Amino acid sequence: MASILKDFSRLCLHTMTTRPWGIETCILNYHAAGIHGITLWRNVLENKNLSRVRTLLDDHGMHVVSLCRGGFFPSTDAAKRQKALDDNYVAIEQAVAVGAPLIVLVCGSEKDQSLEKSREQILEGIVRLYPLAEKAGVKLAIEPLHPMYAGDRSAVNTIRQANAMAETIHAGSVGVALDVYHVWWDPDLESEIKRCAAQGHLFAFHVCDWKVPTTDFLNDRGLMGEGCINIPLIREWVESNGFNGFIEVEIFSEAYWAEDQHRYVEKIKDAYLTKT
Ligand code: ZN
Repeated sequence: MASILKDFSRLCLHTMTTRPWGIETCILNYHAAGIHGITLWRNVLENKNLSRVRTLLDDHGMHVVSLCRGGFFPSTDAAKRQKALDDNYVAIEQAVAVGAPLIVLVCGSEKDQSLEKSREQILEGIVRLYPLAEKAGVKLAIEPLHPMYAGDRSAVNTIRQANAMAETIHAGSVGVALDVYHVWWDPDLESEIKRCAAQGHLFAFHVCDWKVPTTDFLNDRGLMGEGCINIPLIREWVESNGFNGFIEVEIFSEAYWAEDQHRYVEKIKDAYLTKT
């Protein structure tokens, strides 16, 4: 049908989604593919001249959605907690340099202490971080991670916990990044999305799919439509509560990283139009 509009104006790719590509390649190829939203992972910025990266982004009309990632606050060792905080300060500087308005926080978890203790340290870390972020004009988004990561990557595992933390901190600059991969199973998802949006805390929306079976905890994520997540429904909940930001495709997949990345981007575009 001629009336089908191929609108990619709200599509954003995470550079990690096309991991084989460096930052320059991502910018050139996303632009050529008609995609102008980009979330930068910090690995692609290592040893780069950030003002040059920013110029390249600007020259190609790229809209930087966020910087991934800050966080990893908890540790039993105070010196390590300080080191993590220092790294988050660097992330703020990088965000400013590349024009990223938001830093996504993967909050961290320490296996040698309770989840409660880790959450205390996460809260403390964000409370120390956000005034600097605010001053720099950068927002922070707490991303709840699926409970399978509670032992190492994040002690914040539900949108309810993330909402509660953002509400406790109560700063306009601290909100939540919602990733369907991490929250799709949650029976409270719809009501917690409503709560999150009502507080003005819904800062980002990430999509991919949960493959059945999933063969790797980290790097076997699916393209939208390949798994069991009802992404259109979650998107509807998010948008009916006022979210109109970028739809960020964030897929960690050894299988897709092994493919021709140009063809893969075309598959992403198709899945974005038809399965998201
Ligand atoms: Zn995510």
